[in-house]
Amino acid sequence: MIAMDTQTLTLAVAMAGLSIVAVTALFVAFRHERSLAIFSLGFLSAMVGFVLLIGQNKPHDWASFILANALIVFYQLCMAWGVRSFFGVGKGWPARFWAYMAAWLALLTIGTYVYDSFAVRAIGASVFIIAASVEFLVAVRGVGEGIPPIIRRAAWGVVLAFIACHLVRVGLVAANANARLMDDAFVNAYTFSFTLIFSIAMAGLILIIDVSHLVSLLEKKNAKLESLAMCDGLTGLRNRHALELKLEGELERASRYRVPLSVILFDIDYFKRVNDTWGHQAGDGVIKRMAELTSALVRQPDDLFRWGGEEFMLVSPHTDRAGATALAEKLRAAIEAESFPEAGTVTASFGVAEWKPGEDCDEWFKRVDRALYRAKNTGRNRVVGIDAGEAAPAAMVRIDWKAEWSSGNRLIDGEHRELLGLSNNLIDLSLVGADATAMLEAFDALIGHIQKHFGDEERVLAELVYPGLAGHALLHAKLVSESLELRAKVEAGELDHGALFDFLVDKVVVEHLVREDSQFFEYTHRPSA
Ligand code: GH3
Ligand code: MG
Ligand code: MG
Repeated sequence: MIAMDTQTLTLAVAMAGLSIVAVTALFVAFRHERSLAIFSLGFLSAMVGFVLLIGQNKPHDWASFILANALIVFYQLCMAWGVRSFFGVGKGWPARFWAYMAAWLALLTIGTYVYDSFAVRAIGASVFIIAASVEFLVAVRGVGEGIPPIIRRAAWGVVLAFIACHLVRVGLVAANANARLMDDAFVNAYTFSFTLIFSIAMAGLILIIDVSHLVSLLEKKNAKLESLAMCDGLTGLRNRHALELKLEGELERASRYRVPLSVILFDIDYFKRVNDTWGHQAGDGVIKRMAELTSALVRQPDDLFRWGGEEFMLVSPHTDRAGATALAEKLRAAIEAESFPEAGTVTASFGVAEWKPGEDCDEWFKRVDRALYRAKNTGRNRVVGIDAGEAAPAAMVRIDWKAEWSSGNRLIDGEHRELLGLSNNLIDLSLVGADATAMLEAFDALIGHIQKHFGDEERVLAELVYPGLAGHALLHAKLVSESLELRAKVEAGELDHGALFDFLVDKVVVEHLVREDSQFFEYTHRPSA
């Protein structure tokens, strides 16, 4: 009866083995992973081993005793071999595994042909299976962090329980051999039962180990992709996308703890010239050096981002406008003092804006952008801050005369200086909130001066036979009509600081005085002028 059960159980183990072999073989075919094939081979040999064991009790049958038992120990060694080769631990199949097999075969031969002892074979099998199980644990341990802790603990639990079952088996066989307390078939029934359970558990473990390995590979790839998506290849700084993510946290912190938060946006001056003169590669070198230089000067290099081509954004937590302006000034001076590879001296212009509680992020960024724009338009290589709620700079910005604006013609230069003076006057009045009458008076003075100056300038240029005179006179007419439109706004009380500033600084000074007028300087600089 019990003998029947043994056969049934053996068959059950063999069938379970067949299912496991089929599943793992499918997995191997799908994954094309050599070490998974080792596990599959192990399950195959276990299945064949158990099928051969069904033919037991036929004395001196080498297949059902020797080969079957050898295959079962080989199966256990395959589990350790598979883990070793899956994770590249040691040589995969080490020399001592051959020694286990050789010793086991020798013992089986003796226990079959010399003594024909069930006890020798049964205890020997358990001892070698325990040794192979310990090898599995050694392999798992050798993998280290490659297997997540929870799976490692599960593997230890399964294998230690399996070893415990074999130790009990050894005890049962020894007791049986001495006193014949029970039938050999009982020991077999017990053995096959737990072997069935553990084979399935083992197959599950291996699939989980493979899955966890795949997951960890994916995580690594994701981290790499994320860093590629967040980092700029040229400078190694984080990019705009990373800045957006960082800002979310910073804005949240600033509003919750009511701490200041500022941004500094800077852009290399006349960078196109660097590219045009020294080549694009030299330009890249300048951008790279700029990133190194400035990130070394800020508290946390992580706060510096590459905003665009030759624009950088610095986020300064816990820093108000004054602090950020001082920091920007430090960076500006360091850049100016630096000798860049190939290009030599390079400067940058800075915009600064402190976040105002409750302010929309876009508004804040527009403000820093405007500040940078002003820095560019008021001569570059400078720092300009704009406070929330003001379109114009917080400080009394004055458009200062620059030597490079000198045309060489005394009349024109004198009038240009006066133009700046009248513009500055108007900006000051606007900033202190002067009434409409005072504004209009100042505006009329400016318009009167502009008209007189344009007339004088055109006359001088005509004398010098400046070829661009016609075009230049057209620009003059356009500026005069724009200034009259603006005057109408002043009169209607509709003019804000921003529009006034944009007109005076950007249109009159930068676009006209700096860009357009400089084109006739080569005529006015001639000795005859
Ligand atoms: P401004 O003082 O007004 O900023 O003058 P600019 O010449 O710097 O003008 P702008 O900012 O419009 O031009 C930037 C130039 O930078 C345009 C583009 O060809 C160049 N640039 C942008 N990204 C890179 C880059 O990664 N490498 C190089 N070499 N050049 C770049
Ligand atoms: Mg630039
Ligand atoms: Mg730019």
